[in-house]
Amino acid sequence: MALIVHKYGGTSMGSTERIRNVAKRVAKWHRAGHQMVVVPSAMSGETNRLLGLAKELAPGKASPSYERELDMLASTGEQASSALLAIALQAEGLQSVSYAGWQVPIRTNNAYTKARIESIDDARVRADLDAGKVVIVTGFQGMDDAGNITTLGRGGSDTSAVAVAAAMKAQECLIYTDVDGVYTTDPRVVPEARRLKTVSFEEMLEMASLGSKVLQIRSVEFAGKYRVPLRVLSSFTPWDIDIHEEAASGTLITFEEDENMEQAIVSGIAFNRDEAKIALRGVPDKPGIAYQILGAVAQANVEVDMIIQNISKDGRTDFSFTVNRGDYAKIMDLLRSSVIKGLGVEDLEGDTKICKVSIVGIGMRSHVGIASKMFRALSEEGINIQMISTSEIKTSVVIDEKYIELAVRALHKAFDLDQPATA
Ligand code: ASP
Ligand code: MG
Repeated sequence: MALIVHKYGGTSMGSTERIRNVAKRVAKWHRAGHQMVVVPSAMSGETNRLLGLAKELAPGKASPSYERELDMLASTGEQASSALLAIALQAEGLQSVSYAGWQVPIRTNNAYTKARIESIDDARVRADLDAGKVVIVTGFQGMDDAGNITTLGRGGSDTSAVAVAAAMKAQECLIYTDVDGVYTTDPRVVPEARRLKTVSFEEMLEMASLGSKVLQIRSVEFAGKYRVPLRVLSSFTPWDIDIHEEAASGTLITFEEDENMEQAIVSGIAFNRDEAKIALRGVPDKPGIAYQILGAVAQANVEVDMIIQNISKDGRTDFSFTVNRGDYAKIMDLLRSSVIKGLGVEDLEGDTKICKVSIVGIGMRSHVGIASKMFRALSEEGINIQMISTSEIKTSVVIDEKYIELAVRALHKAFDLDQPATA
């Protein structure tokens, strides 16, 4: 007998019919002798619907008191789906109880709409499990020290599930979603994309932050930190498939030293269309320049991704960086109105029609020539590289947006990702 945490995403909870299916699946696991904690998302579309209502009443108004109410509001989505799942489990003949975050309690800081979990008291849940109940814990939410309801940011139910699994030392946390695992790249772009049987935490973290939307990034960080065995799998298999078969399906997010890790050098190709590039030309090359440019960007609360500064010529250099596309106009305005004049920058230009494509793999640590293979594959397609950045386990390039699909396909092929990895 083991303690298992299941998490079901919004699509899996999307109708009473689907909730009934989830209940049957959970009941199967319970009958196989496991203690079950289930963390559901709101029914699909519900969080958007609720936040949309708020927007109708007060468009774009951001203040702590407004955000407090957004969390009061959005948290009801998970409260409803959790209660419905408990009801469906009772209809299956099981004992089941659902708890909102504050009832567990799951304690968070007070950063409304993006709170972080600080601690989870598992006494109440454990007592119910020991009494033979299936316990449903709402995803996405918690309570701050003053007793206010908080939410964890969009997609936050993943993090709730992993945090509950970590706090309760669950044997495994299974994230049920509408895809059957993590793929070498988006199958909508490359039909030959292959499901990975395993992927390391570090690779998953890179892929999540590079735009693969399977898991909320924070949930992967959490799983890595507390070493929670995590599996992504589909909730659209028949609910009554063999439990061992089900437990082995999907993608296992694992630790590097695990011997059943796949041994590919590059595990996946990630891409992101949400960035924009900003270039400052003819920047006087003197101490404090990078700080004055990026300090202003940071003050505006905008995250910077890639940064490039060239070697200077005649006392001047070029300085470019990327930001989220949604922040582009704001940062261009800011640079134009206050920063560049004071610095004596010759020219400011920007481009929103770019994308970032990355190869990710822990094998890059121990193999040479991987980046050059990437650059060759791109050059063979006539794709110009505008920016490059590397880390230990990834290489990213910025290219013209119109080449995104061509680039991803070429790289997928160049690194043999359509072939099963050899162990
Ligand atoms: N319901 C929340 C959202 O839509 C949390 C989640 O689904 O993970 O973002
Ligand atoms: Mg999700």
